[in-house]
Amino acid sequence: MTGLLVIKADDLVGHPEKERPFRGSKEVALRLGDSTVKGPMLVEGVARGTVDGVRASFTTTAEVHMKCVRCLIEWDEVVSASGKQHFGKLPDEDGYLVSEGEIDVSGPAMDELALALPVAPIHDQKCRGLCPICGNDLNNEPCDGHEDDSVSPFAVLKDLFDS
Ligand SMILES: [Zn+2]
Ligand SMILES: [Zn+2]
Repeated sequence: MTGLLVIKADDLVGHPEKERPFRGSKEVALRLGDSTVKGPMLVEGVARGTVDGVRASFTTTAEVHMKCVRCLIEWDEVVSASGKQHFGKLPDEDGYLVSEGEIDVSGPAMDELALALPVAPIHDQKCRGLCPICGNDLNNEPCDGHEDDSVSPFAVLKDLFDS
């Protein structure tokens, strides 16, 4: 699949009236906190000529494996991100340029995808997490008995002084 995101662009440079749609994919391995992408990243978009280069507008999509930072449940979710990148005759700060008459949109697409990944995924904003004492998943059932002890370490000290 590699290579489909390298697009012929020599005939677009200096021709703002010309454009070329593209669609391709690339195997990627990305990890950010508890989000992992391991598989194909799909990229669709259009490359348009500018007076001194090519501007690519694209949307990138990938299936992301996530782990809830509160309750440790794991699931897969599709993440999409859109972006733009100008490719000139000289490399920009990221090193992107029109090289040998072609542009490679996989780098900018991967940059956008990485920005869209949650570092600390939460499977549900209402997730109650795990009990810090016994590890019970509090989404299933609340803990009785030891919950009060976990509120504050000072509660334990207070008990000592009161006795
Ligand atoms: Zn959760
Ligand atoms: Zn518990």
